[in-house]
Amino acid sequence: MKKLQYERPLIQRLNAGLMNKFGMRTEYTPLTHIDDVSVVKLLEDFGSPLFAISERTIRQTYREATRAFKTRYPKVQFAWSYKTNYINAVCNVFHQEGSWGEVVSGFEYQKAINNGVPGNKVIFNGPDKTDEELKMAVRNNSPIHIDHLDELYRLTEIAEELKLRPRVAIRVNMDTGIYPIWDRFGFNYENGQAWDAINKIILTDKLELVGLHCHIGTFMLSPSAYGIAASKISDLALGIRKKYKRNIEYIDMGGGFASKNTLKGSYLQGVDANPNFDQFAEAICAAILNSGFGTDELPLLILETGRALIDEAGYLLGTVISNKRLSDGRRATILDFGVNVMFTSFWYDHKISPAQEFSNYTEDCVLYGPLCMNIDVIRENVTLPPLKKDDHVVVHNVGAYNMTQWMQFISLRPAVVMIDMEHQPHLIRKRETLSSIESSEVKPDYLAKFKL
Ligand SMILES: *Cc1c(COP(=O)(O)O)cnc(C)c1O
Repeated sequence: MKKLQYERPLIQRLNAGLMNKFGMRTEYTPLTHIDDVSVVKLLEDFGSPLFAISERTIRQTYREATRAFKTRYPKVQFAWSYKTNYINAVCNVFHQEGSWGEVVSGFEYQKAINNGVPGNKVIFNGPDKTDEELKMAVRNNSPIHIDHLDELYRLTEIAEELKLRPRVAIRVNMDTGIYPIWDRFGFNYENGQAWDAINKIILTDKLELVGLHCHIGTFMLSPSAYGIAASKISDLALGIRKKYKRNIEYIDMGGGFASKNTLKGSYLQGVDANPNFDQFAEAICAAILNSGFGTDELPLLILETGRALIDEAGYLLGTVISNKRLSDGRRATILDFGVNVMFTSFWYDHKISPAQEFSNYTEDCVLYGPLCMNIDVIRENVTLPPLKKDDHVVVHNVGAYNMTQWMQFISLRPAVVMIDMEHQPHLIRKRETLSSIESSEVKPDYLAKFKL
């Protein structure tokens, strides 16, 4: 056996400090390393700002989610929601863990296929699927989730044209006690639209109805809404069995579980207050199990969880550009990343940690981004130790939606690295350059010359 290395015990003085006006210190510990990789070194090597993704956290979170469901229900399948983060390296970690793909556009569909996901494991959602995209999905035997009647009719025609039998599900929307109801997608449960679509699919007999789908909202904080949705969807499946003597292969409960972020205006921190995977799994699995399926006819349970699987794995690293005093005396700190790359700062109070040691003194401040635009605010009010020019900060829980909703506005988009299981960072998306932006521009010849 290898002799273990002696490590001397370390005694550290705990500094409780004084309470601030909210009763406790916030964002107090510096974050100098992410998965043992130095934040300063990452910024030196890859530039500032920089997105860093922890592969370890993705895998741990994914395993935690699958454990929560598989201990409660016999047949569970996750399908990675591409729009939440479709950088290929990220998608592939999920596929390696066993996740299918879930896409909402032709471009995402192609991405999943290019990543090597078999066609029958790419779920095609969304209201906008062109004829070409539908045909591609039918030929690949992908489950197509029908959003509206026009799509149902078009797909029926395509089935005849191609002499193939597309595998379809319908998206169902419903009242789950969460308002406003997300009723713009799919067919409504309460007013009979869902049954109308089911009857049309089964009686015209050109499409194979393999599943029922819902996606009731996003950043949902109430597991009981999923319980209601799962029993309504189960009810439809059991109704189909009763009326047509057919079993549905799967129930797809969509995504929407809250991550650990804190919504603006909430009193408690998301990490303490938001429900965990066990609570969502309990609500969903209990509702399906208790709805009346026989043991050998339980449908596969598909989950399209996005943000709750990736948010905690993502960090945004940046640098202080400057400090100033606002006219009302408040401290303002300008950072080198703004709402252009951190879209989610519009609805979350993201946790932000200094990346270096600091004194006990803290002060309320505003954090601004670098854009020449008034709405570029990262935090309206946060208690932080005073940061100096060139100090570094780390924003937590930015893995979901930022790397897909970021915009190229005023400044170029930063690089993305993934820190692997052996603590090695890999570049997974290059920093944008002027030429990458201009590569899709065309300047007509007659505009090439001017004299000023
Ligand atoms: C966006 C989306 C998801 C993922 O939602 P999250 O809130 O990120 O979990 C899943 N399914 C569908 C149909 C979606 O549109």
